[in-house]
Amino acid sequence: MRLPKLSRVLATLAATALTALGVVAVDTAPASAAVRNVCYNTSQAGPFASYANQAASIWNARTNNINMAQCGSNLMIYYTYGGGSYAQRTSLGNGRVVIDYNQAQQYSPLRIMTHEIGHILGLPDNYNGNCAILMSGGSAGTSCTNPYPSSTEAARVDSLFGFAARSATTPQIFTDSWPAATAGALR
Ligand SMILES: [Zn+2]
Repeated sequence: MRLPKLSRVLATLAATALTALGVVAVDTAPASAAVRNVCYNTSQAGPFASYANQAASIWNARTNNINMAQCGSNLMIYYTYGGGSYAQRTSLGNGRVVIDYNQAQQYSPLRIMTHEIGHILGLPDNYNGNCAILMSGGSAGTSCTNPYPSSTEAARVDSLFGFAARSATTPQIFTDSWPAATAGALR
């Protein structure tokens, strides 16, 4: 058939011309279009404000789809004395983190901070005792100071903040189980 052939030739010519002009078909949105700000507020974070900033830098460096910045109060950072550190996620990227000052004397405050923010970013606990896993939290013991999410954990956050799954995370309170300083329950 001549017409289909001619069509193919024309299409090829057109594609060649577009390529020559530097016009390239793009079938996905620019990566930046998926980046979502997670605005945190350290006005109530007291001595942990600097840890929140460090944790934000870590999460920004390890993920592609979020940008943590002091641009609002989507995520409030608080601290308290006793009772345990915890995160209260109201929706993905929103909520509050409370750091227990007493726990932070025994466990790495930066690891606690990045862990609790991890909950706000959609991650559950994974108390497997592995220090390489951020969400293993206090199960990795007081000697574990690793504040970095594993590549798997970071990829999970990126996935949750992708367009398709953005609203899939349900509200949840994580009453955390970083062992209390006096528990003596470390194994
Ligand atoms: Zn936790």
